[in-house]
Amino acid sequence: MSSMIYASTRGDRTEVSLSDAIVRGLAPDGGLYVPRQLPSIDPAALDAAALGAAHRLPALARVALRGFFEGDRLEAKLGEIADAALDLPAPTTAIDAAPDPLFALELYHGPTAAFKDFGARFLAESLQRTRGPRDERLTILVATSGDTGGAVAAAFHRRPWVRVVILYPKGLVSPRQEQQLTCWGENVESLRVAGTFDDCQRLVKEAFVDPALGRRHRFSSANSINIGRLLPQMVYYVASSLEVRRATGRPANYVIPAGNLGNAFAAIWARELGLPIERIVLAHNANRTVPDYLASGEWRPRASVATLASAMDVGNPSNMERVRALFPAFATLRTRITADSIDDAAIRARIVADQRRFGRVWCPHTAAAAEAYARLPAGDRAGRPWVLVATAHPAKFNEIVEPLVGAPIEVPESLARLLSLPRRVTDIPPTLGALADAIA
Ligand SMILES: *Cc1c(COP(=O)(O)O)cnc(C)c1O
Repeated sequence: MSSMIYASTRGDRTEVSLSDAIVRGLAPDGGLYVPRQLPSIDPAALDAAALGAAHRLPALARVALRGFFEGDRLEAKLGEIADAALDLPAPTTAIDAAPDPLFALELYHGPTAAFKDFGARFLAESLQRTRGPRDERLTILVATSGDTGGAVAAAFHRRPWVRVVILYPKGLVSPRQEQQLTCWGENVESLRVAGTFDDCQRLVKEAFVDPALGRRHRFSSANSINIGRLLPQMVYYVASSLEVRRATGRPANYVIPAGNLGNAFAAIWARELGLPIERIVLAHNANRTVPDYLASGEWRPRASVATLASAMDVGNPSNMERVRALFPAFATLRTRITADSIDDAAIRARIVADQRRFGRVWCPHTAAAAEAYARLPAGDRAGRPWVLVATAHPAKFNEIVEPLVGAPIEVPESLARLLSLPRRVTDIPPTLGALADAIA
C-alpha cells in the first residue's frame, strides 16, 4: 500500500507522514506542509455519502480525506476523528429574495460560532490519537486576535494531556470574543497582554525558541497553518458544492472572507480534487496584500491595519505560500482566484443593505464577502449560483452589528452558555519573563 507523503512548501526535502506534519505544525525550514501530490477521490463514493447519511460531514470526510490519510498511523482513525470533530451543521441555505441564484454557507453553528471550530476540533481529535501513554503533557501557546483562541480553547478544554495558554491583546478584542477567551478554566489559561497582537505573537515565538522554557514545557501550536486545521475545512466545501449542483444543476461559485487564507485554501483544494466548484473570490478587508499582489504580481507583505472585520486583519497571509506552491506560475494563479478589498464603510453599508434586501444579518467578515459579491459584474452573477461563506455569527459582533440593523441579535444557545460563565484572566506585561512566570 502506498502512503501519502508531506513536504515543506520551501526548500526542505524532508518527507514526513500526515501525523508528523500535524504534530510539528510548521516545517523545519519555516515552510508549510503540503502533500507531494493531491490524492484523487472516487466521485461515486462521494455522491453516495452525500445522499445517504444523516451525519453528512463525517460521512463525506471519510471519502474526501481518505487519500490524505493513506498509509498514516491515523488512517484507521479517520472515521472516529470525523465523527467526533465534524458532527456540526454546515448548511448551505438559499437566499430567496436575491434576484440571482444566491446561497449562504453557514459555518457559525459550532460551539464558538465561527468557522474556526471545524479546524480546531479536528486538530484536537487528531493530535489526541497521535499520543502514546508515556508522552509528556503538551503546552499549546496560542496568540489570538479574536476567534482562533476561543475555538482552540473549546476544542482542547478538559483534555488532560494538554494545557492551553491563550495570549490576547488587552482592549483589542470584542467584548464577546474576550468572554470566549477567558471563560474556560481547568486546562485552559488566559493571559491578557498589555500590548498588541504582534506582541502576543512575538512572545509565543520567543517562548518556542527559549532553551530554559523548552526544558520545562513541551510546546506545541494550533495556528491556522497546521494541516490538521485545513483538511476538515475542505469537507464543508465538498458538502456545499454537491448540494448546490444538486439544487441548480451547475457548479458552485464562492466568495470567501479572507485573512490568512486558510478557509479559502480549503476551497481551492476541494476544487483541485474535482468537486463542482467554478470561481473562487477572496473578500479581504482594508488589508490589501492579496488583492494588490493579484493586480501587480509583486508580493509585498506589510503591517496589518485594524478594521471592523478584525479576524481578517492580516498583512502577511501565511497560507498564500500554499497557494503559490500549488500554482507556481503567476499567470496560472491569477486565473484561479480573484480578490477584492472592502473597507469599513462598505462593510457597514452592506450589513444595512442586505438586512433590508434579504432579511439576512451578516457579521462584519461575511459582510465583506456580500459586498464583494455585489461588486461583481452583473453578467457574472446572472444565472450562476454563488455562495457567500458566512464565517461567524453576527451575535459575536453585536456591538458593531446591532446599531446598524437597529435591533437586538438573537444569541445562539451555545454562545449564550459561554457568555454566562465567569471569567478568569491574568494580566501580564509584554515580556518573556512575565510569560514564563505566568506559566511556571
Ligand atoms: C479567521 C476568520 C476569517 C479569516 O479566515 P482565514 O482562514 O484566516 O482566511 C474570516 N472570518 C472570521 C469570522 C474568522 O474568524
